[in-house]
Amino acid sequence: MAAPGFHDPRFERIFPPNASVRTDGVLEIGGCALPELAAEYGTPLYVIDELGLRERMRAYRDGLAARRPNSQVAFASKSFPVLAAYAIAAAEGLAIDVAGAGELLLALESGAPPELIHLHGNAKSEEELALAVDAGIGTIVLDGEADVERLDALLTRPQDVLIRIIPGVDPRVPRAISTGGERSKFGLPIPQAKALIERLEGHPFITVVGLHLHIGSQVLEVEPFERAVEAVRELGEFPVYNIGGGLGVDYHVRHAAPTLDAYLDAITAAATCVLPAHSRLIIEPGRSLVARSGVTAYRVNNVKRTGATFVAVDGGLADQLNVALMDMEFTPLVADRASTRPDTVAQLVGRQCESGDLLVDRAELAAPATGDTIVLAATGAYGYTLSNNYNGALKPAVVFCREGESRLAVRRQTYAEFLGHHVGPSQQSWAS
Ligand SMILES: *Cc1c(COP(=O)(O)O)cnc(C)c1O
Repeated sequence: MAAPGFHDPRFERIFPPNASVRTDGVLEIGGCALPELAAEYGTPLYVIDELGLRERMRAYRDGLAARRPNSQVAFASKSFPVLAAYAIAAAEGLAIDVAGAGELLLALESGAPPELIHLHGNAKSEEELALAVDAGIGTIVLDGEADVERLDALLTRPQDVLIRIIPGVDPRVPRAISTGGERSKFGLPIPQAKALIERLEGHPFITVVGLHLHIGSQVLEVEPFERAVEAVRELGEFPVYNIGGGLGVDYHVRHAAPTLDAYLDAITAAATCVLPAHSRLIIEPGRSLVARSGVTAYRVNNVKRTGATFVAVDGGLADQLNVALMDMEFTPLVADRASTRPDTVAQLVGRQCESGDLLVDRAELAAPATGDTIVLAATGAYGYTLSNNYNGALKPAVVFCREGESRLAVRRQTYAEFLGHHVGPSQQSWAS
């Protein structure tokens, strides 16, 4: 009997590439059945299609290299700061962006070559910069004089840096109504950047190799890119341009983010038009690199029909904070009945004590019942990142699945670890 497939064939492009539905209707990711993973590792659980993730990294890497030989893809690791993901990104030949000591330690621990690590941040501490310099990381993205002062005290050998620029144009709005992006807390306006670059000329150790420009999301046209580069032209020509600003992701069948090919075509065409001929183009995707490879699995703890039908699961904004922060519209599926057409419209809610803890408004679900495993698709980016202990929730585990085998990548936090952060009556009396 042929496998039945999703109840809605359009789910194919929302779920991970290696998601499939077993003949009994059970959802599998990387050949691992979701209800079995939920039983083995507990829920909430972040489940990653490992080969899907690797394939996406390669598609980015090869797609950019084919269009622009002197280029580099950096994994914006804040989107999924899991040691295994750093190791996989490094194994797939990606550079790695970090924005703090914790992410830097993960990158170093993963075995990523230090020269392929970029450190960002608008408020870097001395400790972070010392760690970066000691490790010999490739690039530090400077965000002002404070970085220079600290590096002056630390450096005893050359260090490549990029200068983060506020290009003075906001690509999302027409020039006439652009605020100029000057209120960004990241980067320097062009006149200040110019002064800093001049001051660093001839510096014994700090070598300005290029500029970092973040030009917003959904870069699809050449035009905003051209305007941004045009704006920084007075700073001179550089060997390296890091153009941040990523590609969107489809979370719902109604969404239609541009394809990777369309995005790479646009950004490399623009680079060819406006960047110096032999300069290096760096892009740094996060969300669009990892989101689709991950789903989040929950156990249904309560189904009730009151003012509405509520399906309540054992997670919520403690593990999927984006639903509250960014009004995300995720696609849910009952993993036990993935090929069954939904018969229920429910409020899929979490267990945290906030009315904003709504995972999916008007979720369409197939006969949801207590004990079912429900997954949210395309939650590989920023879910784990933003996980927290709201209401004493434990930070969930992360498991990588591949060809029927599952490997634990992050252990679920334990109550002992959770309690262990606190200084309690056994160590310190709080009675008076
Ligand atoms: C967050 C961030 C990214 C990644 O953005 P996505 O939207 O996740 O692709 C890239 N570069 C910088 C500097 C960032 O801060």
